[in-house]
Amino acid sequence: MPRHDLVLLALDDATLLQLMQRALQAKSYETAIASGRVALEKIVQEAIPALVMLGEQFDGQLGVKIACEILERFPTMPILIYAERESMVLYKEVLQAGLSGCLYPPLRNDDIIGAVERSLQRARALGDWLRREVKRTTASLERRANLSEAELQRYEFILANIDDGVIILDEEGKIQLMNKAMMVAFDLPDKGYQGKPVLEIIDHPDFSILLNRAQMAPLKYHEINFDDGRIYNAQYTPLEGIGSVITVQDISYLKQVDRLKSDFVHTVSHDLRSPLTSVLGYTELVGRVGPLNEQQIEFLDRIRSSVESITSLVNELLDLSRLEAGLDTRHEIVRLENVLKFAMDTLEGQFRLNNLSLQSDIAEDLPEMRGNPIRLRQLLDNLLTNATKYAPPGTTIHISLQAEDNLIIFSVADEGPGIPQSEQGRIFEKFYRASNVPEQVDGSGLGLAIVKSIVDSHQGRIWVESAVDKGSTFFVVLPAYISEKPS
Ligand code: ADP
Repeated sequence: MPRHDLVLLALDDATLLQLMQRALQAKSYETAIASGRVALEKIVQEAIPALVMLGEQFDGQLGVKIACEILERFPTMPILIYAERESMVLYKEVLQAGLSGCLYPPLRNDDIIGAVERSLQRARALGDWLRREVKRTTASLERRANLSEAELQRYEFILANIDDGVIILDEEGKIQLMNKAMMVAFDLPDKGYQGKPVLEIIDHPDFSILLNRAQMAPLKYHEINFDDGRIYNAQYTPLEGIGSVITVQDISYLKQVDRLKSDFVHTVSHDLRSPLTSVLGYTELVGRVGPLNEQQIEFLDRIRSSVESITSLVNELLDLSRLEAGLDTRHEIVRLENVLKFAMDTLEGQFRLNNLSLQSDIAEDLPEMRGNPIRLRQLLDNLLTNATKYAPPGTTIHISLQAEDNLIIFSVADEGPGIPQSEQGRIFEKFYRASNVPEQVDGSGLGLAIVKSIVDSHQGRIWVESAVDKGSTFFVVLPAYISEKPS
């Protein structure tokens, strides 16, 4: 098949050159002759031949070495080496260098043309394959790029249409993304916020508190109260390598239901207090107006004990409603270890009565905190009482009070019945008692709700780690008081 490809001949031997030139031209190949190393470089660079025929030695240099240099710049260029003698060593070198092959005398025209055509065919096949691969890779990259574009659009669509407000900030607190619900919540215009510091765009005191406290940890939730009565719950989540995301949910209706419930409970418990006091008073008086038989005395005792437990329930309810209404604002500097020691002293009799051992680990030099000492005492009392109530006799209760990173960490661990995993989130709700509460253990289900309210009013956190039949550990983390005076 006639060819018009350019074959560059770089051979020292003039007779050989003529032979090759004739053979190639007879098959319509174009030929160029390199007179030396410099000319060879120039032709390769400028004309980019379809094939190079190199002498085993050319212009005083090894053909294979020259070929390697050419391949560095034109890796797919076919190169044939012509040698005077057949040699295994040369053949190996040619193979290792990735050249097309070798030619040896005696040379017939067909041998020359055959070798040239095979080399060109291989080079073409290689070129085709390379082009196909490049095309395939490009198409696959394009498909992937399109896919991520489509995915991005899908996520943007989801984000834009969820009811919760979402805002993504970079590490400097500048806005990266904000969805429609967030703009509606804070009554913001549709655009003009990208890349701006969030506090410049969202000017709300509760939002600033959330951001400031989130930097200091551990507060991740905060309520945002709007002047028009709406209440949102805002949640802050740090995003490694991105910044942070803040989501807000409208909880106005939940708050309203809760308020109605609390008002109802408050009114009922308040109204129950006076008749209960009067029932209790009359149980005392009955005995004074005439002699009572043994059975009457026993019945009166039962009435008294029932009225006392209703009274304590009513008092707990009133307590809770006062806490929930946020009426408990009296805060002073408190040393929690002192409050804890008093609570432990008071409960010592109970520990002994229930045959429980007590192990306490109270760190020295604990920082102070700001809080209401009466409420903090109530918090510790409730948790310690629960431990004594639920732990079986003969077991040990571990109490610990430590400080870490401006936080005071209290924990109480018992070896009691534990709390089923699925119910652990609910035990802080009012009146909730877990399904595995031992029958003989009385309770109203209000103690932990009170504890939770006290923890919340001190900007702390409470959680439980528990396993059924193994025991429970309650943790309370409270912020330490940081003096504003320079130290
Ligand atoms: P109660 O008056 O029932 O003790 P609390 O509000 O103090 O109410 O606790 C709520 C529920 O949490 C309890 O009824 C019990 O199921 C579970 N609970 C609390 N403390 C413990 C504990 N130390 N061990 C096992 N369960 C506990």
